[in-house]
Amino acid sequence: MSIGDSQASTGAVLLTNIGQLLTLRHPRGSDRPRRTTEMQELGIVSEAAVLCIQGKIAAAGPESQIAAGMKAFDSQIETFDCNRGMVLPGFVDSHTHPAFVSPRLVDFEKRIQGSSYEEIAKAGGGIRSSLEGVRKASSEELSANVLRWLERMQKSGTTTVEAKSGYGLTAESEMKSLQGIRCAAKKWRGSVVSTLLGAHVVPSEFKGRADEYVDLVCNEMIPKAAQEKLAEFVDVFCERGAFTLDQTERIFECAIKAGLGTRAHVCQFTPHDLSTLARFKPASYDHLDCLRDRDLEALAGQETIATLLPGASYFLSHSYPMARRLIDAGAAVALATDFNPGTSPTTSMPLVMSMACTQMRMTPAEAISAATINGAHALRLGRQKGTIEPGKDADLAIFDVKDYRELCYWFGSESCRATVLNGSLAIH
Ligand SMILES: [Zn+2]
Repeated sequence: MSIGDSQASTGAVLLTNIGQLLTLRHPRGSDRPRRTTEMQELGIVSEAAVLCIQGKIAAAGPESQIAAGMKAFDSQIETFDCNRGMVLPGFVDSHTHPAFVSPRLVDFEKRIQGSSYEEIAKAGGGIRSSLEGVRKASSEELSANVLRWLERMQKSGTTTVEAKSGYGLTAESEMKSLQGIRCAAKKWRGSVVSTLLGAHVVPSEFKGRADEYVDLVCNEMIPKAAQEKLAEFVDVFCERGAFTLDQTERIFECAIKAGLGTRAHVCQFTPHDLSTLARFKPASYDHLDCLRDRDLEALAGQETIATLLPGASYFLSHSYPMARRLIDAGAAVALATDFNPGTSPTTSMPLVMSMACTQMRMTPAEAISAATINGAHALRLGRQKGTIEPGKDADLAIFDVKDYRELCYWFGSESCRATVLNGSLAIH
């Protein structure tokens, strides 16, 4: 269960005068991840209202019906006039790295001048250059940074965030990062899911001894994170120059043994054989920029979500993931920001969705399904989040647009007027 849920609002909030409400309700009531044509179905209601009570959706539908039902309530209700704007489920950003200290501006300039991601990493830049700041920082400093980013994500309509550690890479600094995330999550009204990414890259003190570093991840980091309930998932950067498939399997075995879920960064720069990881039933494979055909087909029959991160492709001037082929093959596709200081410094889900439309040929409706209900499934929260239906968590985003397609159309200009986070209204 996500950490932020403990802060569910006790009051009642009524959103009125909604021009276009996207419930994302499945027409046949399925609570499975959305695939193929299901990703087009947004459950649109015009002239709508939404009532939230005690952190949950109590009613959502035509305003005339909700208003009639309201007579039963005499308690004080906080009302927000949506001014004929659009309301949809708050975005679920299912892949972020917010526990860092500084931006990586030198890497940014080097890349502009022609250095590749791998060349920068070999020269001491990349992930390794973020380690010193995090190792020296206090948990409070990290927490303040994470909270700042969560609040910025909220400004773009995000109400649930997966947050990874991964810039400490010692047992102590990884736990400190996870504690920083937990502390920030308690101060934020949205929901946060924590992930241990001790296997982000092999730190230089373990150069040539990658397997010994994997031992540290398996024997110290995973048991500590599980014991102190600091993480719900374990992630691995499975990539040339980071961790091999064999090492990923070892780490996943330990994660499962410790009762934690698994997810992996895979196929960002080089293809890997994903069939060897299927037995762990990872919640999500993330990136998939260079996927082999047989893995693409296999994903159609698996629960594992294909989480695509176009922000990283944009920022690295790299090829975009093949969303069209994945969706048409039947994979359940999610979109996330991959917010991080090296390869995707954006907190904006609408910007990522716009990239998905223009660069990956996803339709605006598919991008919205990918950023809400399928993002929720990528965190195993599909039953609680990602649609606007009675009983689900009251996580909503109110946009100052008339038509949902405008979300992806006005790229780089934010129009999120307000959010409801676990039933608590925040006007931006
Ligand atoms: Zn990432």
